[in-house]
Amino acid sequence: MNEKLKCCNACDDPFHWEDEVVIVDDEHYHKDCVELYPTGYVAFLDGNCLGETENDDGQSAYEILDDEELLEVPE
Ligand SMILES: [Zn+2]
Repeated sequence: MNEKLKCCNACDDPFHWEDEVVIVDDEHYHKDCVELYPTGYVAFLDGNCLGETENDDGQSAYEILDDEELLEVPE
């Protein structure tokens, strides 16, 4: 077998040119060999992972926080 062929890390089959491939930690897999789960977004602060967030679009503070937790409440 051609040593240069890139093989799937799961099934060890070389990739066909039209295979769908996913890369995980620099390892290559057939898309059909792995199960993919969308995990949403992960927030980082100064390079430290804070965790996953669902509201990646951001949300108005007043929708999340009580009035007394906000800087200014409109009259
Ligand atoms: Zn595979």
